[in-house]
Order: sequence, then C-alpha cells, then structure tokens
Amino acid sequence: MSLEALRREIGAVNDLLCAASLLVWDSRTVMPSGGVEARGHQIATLMESARERLLAPATLRALDAAETAVQSAPGDDAACREVAAVRDAVAFHGRIPAQLIRAKAELRPRANAAWIEARKSNDFTIFAPHLAATIDLQRAYADAIGHADHPYDALLSLYEPGETTASVRALFDRLRPALRDIRMAAEAKRAPRTDFMHRPFPAEGQRRFGERIGEKFGYDFARGRLDFTVHPFEISFTRHDVRITMRRAETFAPPAIFGAFHEVGHGLYEQNVDPAYTRTALATDLKQLYAVGGTSFGAHESQSRLWENHVGRSRAFWDLHFADLRETFAPSLDDVDAAAFHRAVTAVRPGLVRTDADELTYDLHIMLRVEIEADLIAGTLKVADIPEAWNAAMRRDLGLAPPGDADGCLQDIHWSSGMFGSFCTYTIGNVMGAQLFETALGDEGIATGFGRGDYAPLHAWLKTHVWQHGRRFGRDGILARATGRGLEVEPYIRHLTRRYGQR
Ligand code: ZN
Repeated sequence: MSLEALRREIGAVNDLLCAASLLVWDSRTVMPSGGVEARGHQIATLMESARERLLAPATLRALDAAETAVQSAPGDDAACREVAAVRDAVAFHGRIPAQLIRAKAELRPRANAAWIEARKSNDFTIFAPHLAATIDLQRAYADAIGHADHPYDALLSLYEPGETTASVRALFDRLRPALRDIRMAAEAKRAPRTDFMHRPFPAEGQRRFGERIGEKFGYDFARGRLDFTVHPFEISFTRHDVRITMRRAETFAPPAIFGAFHEVGHGLYEQNVDPAYTRTALATDLKQLYAVGGTSFGAHESQSRLWENHVGRSRAFWDLHFADLRETFAPSLDDVDAAAFHRAVTAVRPGLVRTDADELTYDLHIMLRVEIEADLIAGTLKVADIPEAWNAAMRRDLGLAPPGDADGCLQDIHWSSGMFGSFCTYTIGNVMGAQLFETALGDEGIATGFGRGDYAPLHAWLKTHVWQHGRRFGRDGILARATGRGLEVEPYIRHLTRRYGQR
C-alpha cells in the first residue's frame, strides 16, 4: 500500500489549514483590532500555501500511486474514499482560475467594510455596489465549478454536496405549510411568563454552567476550551484541540446558554472523528480549504441543533438541571420553577433577526434568504431590488415589516464575506438533527438515560453512527446507515408539533 506519500502531503495541507484556523480563532477571541489587516494577509498566505501544496507535482504523483494502490478495494472502503476526496479536490481546484480566487480575496475586505458602514447608517445603497460585484464573482465561481440546471447548484455543492436549488425548494415546500399550521396552534395559546429572562446573570456563572453541561454531554475539556465572544463559534485544529465560544450576556442568559449547548454539539462531532483520520482527507475539506472533520455544513449543524434543541430545550432536561441553574444565578430565578423556565425558553416570538429567532420561526428566515440568493445568482433579482424583496417576504412569512435595512437585508455577514449557498444548511441541520434524534430515542437504553440525565448512551450512539466517520461518508450515507433512510422532513415536523402545537 503506498498511501503513505499521499498522507504525508495531505498531512502538511491539513497542518497549514489548522494553522490558518488557529489565526482565525485568535482574531475572534483575543486579537487587538489593529491586527485585522495583517491577520487577513497571514490567513490568505497560509491558505494559498495549502492550495499550492495540494496541487504540487509531489502530491499529484503520490495521488496517482495511491489510486493504483486502492483500485481493487471496495468503493466505500475508507482508504478509497480518502484517495477519491483528494482526486475530487484536485480536479475542483484545477477548474478555478487563479485570477478569480485573487479577485474574491481582494473584494472580501472591501465588501465587508462597506457592509459594516451600511449597517451602521441603515443604508443599503452603501453596500449595494460591493454586493453586485460579489454576486458577479460568485456567478463566475459557479460557472467555473460547473452546474447543469441552476448556477446556484454549484455554490450549494460547496456546503451541502448533493443538494440542488430544486431539492432545497422541494424541502422548503414541504416544511413551510407545516410551520404555518404549528405556529397558528402555538400562538392561539397564552403567552408564557418571560419577565425573569432579563435579570442579572453574571457571565462567570454562565460559563461555569455551560462547562458543567458540556461535560455532561461528553465534551472533553482536555481537548477543548470555552471562551467568550460576541458571536459564538466552534473551530478545531484536529480532533485533539476543538475550541468553542459563548456569548457574554450579563442580563439575558438563556440565548448565551443555548448558544453554548449549540457549540458543544459542533465540538462533540469534531472531537470524536476516528483518530486514524487525523490530518487526512477524511478530516479536511480540501475544496473549501478548511480543516474540518464533519462531512457537510448541514450534518455539522444537525449535531449542534440536536444538543441545543432536542436535548437542551426538552422538558426532561430542565426538570433535571433547573435546580443547578437556579442555584448558579441565585436569587435571579428564585421565584421560577422548571416548568415556567421551559415554557419561557420554548416560547414562539416571531422577530426580524435570524440569530434571535425561536426554534419554530427560524427556518422561515432561512427560506427567504435562500430564495433571494438563488434569484440573485440566476440574475432574476437585481441587487437594487433586494430590500423590497426582503421586506415583502418578511411580511408574507412572519407578518413583520423591518423598520430599516439594518434589521432587514443587511443583518447577516454572509454576503459581505462572499458566502453564497450556506444558508440552507441551517434548515437541513434542523431536519437531519430531528431524524437522528428520533431514531436514537427509539433505543430504550438511550431514552432511559436521557430521562435520567445520563447522556452517555446518546453520545455513544452518535459517535458510532455519525461522528467517527468524519468525511468518509456523505450526509445521506450517514443518514442511510444511522436511520435506514435519506433526509426526511417528517421527524422534524413531528418534533415541532409535539413541542409547539399541543401545549
Ligand atoms: Zn452552528
């Protein structure tokens, strides 16, 4: 077997990408703001080096040899998948002109600065020319990647391989009417008490509580850490160092706490990839040039949503852990019980801002973004018409009218960063998370453990069926092995109906 030479080269690619990720972590946690520009160069240089190493003659020779070595192995063999992933990535990068990569990298900081300025001034026209330039480049990128039916398909394939504009629309068409019905049922009920949500919740207590629950879920702090940031995230430098962050919110703890559960879910996925895959193509996204063990953005999001919403927002969870929370923040929750707290954190309150959305209305925010993105990439929606299209969709889907663009079409960082095609993965994550959780809970040991606050059986099931595989199988391969089916929206609808439709 001569996979060794290929592993040496891809190992080096992974090292470079992990180093870039560490610089990203640093820039989002402790870097002084003066470092922004130089840091941008440092990260870009490391990613460029990683791409060059991937396409270098030594890697290509090693790839040829590795292909010969695995040619008689079955197709789903790990080594076969590993070699095929490198071949795929090499072909992918071969299709993208260097000049296009440079143009995207140069535009990003300018578009980002214009977006920040536009948000501050609540004026979309400041961002519009930069967004138009971004969309032109994204369309050129989609054409270079290649697509059959819709240029947006090419961009979707970067984040959620296998999904197309048509398949995503079909998923949304099934989900949308169900969400409307469940929401009508939920809103017919009396609004829960939420006054206690805005009392003093010292940040240190939030971190300690987050750490205790993270440990219960099985997050390994010997290979991880939890810090405070404005926008929570998870990032890893192999499975041996997987870091997460949470918001510091002194007077409004619940979003920070659920955000911590969410990132713990992402972290569990990365920490439990098969150790044999470390520094290989089975724990590196060689197309997007990102050191990640999870197989797709949607699959990753399924794990964060599972621990945040199915475990963390369950009544069983708060029956077991509310006393700890109340004690941690005494006396702020002394007049509240587990049932009241659970009702408050599962309340339905449609709002303008995606990141503040409740579990039930969140997907409506996603659907309107995906529709707008697909039309922008297709050229059927002009940039100047985005605010009108956005506000019309908000009125139609959520019954709300944004007072300005800052809380409307300027609220997300994605477009200014040149990220087109990723939004659908949040909803796919919700759907996949529900499907996995429903299947897992069919196991008596897991259900019993869950009711007792023993999450080890659930952790073990997810490790066996999802996490350990890294990028060996695609999302649907994981689902087929774990649940016997492809992606299905019904378990998610059943979950939302149980939680919101009949309280
Ligand atoms: Zn997430």
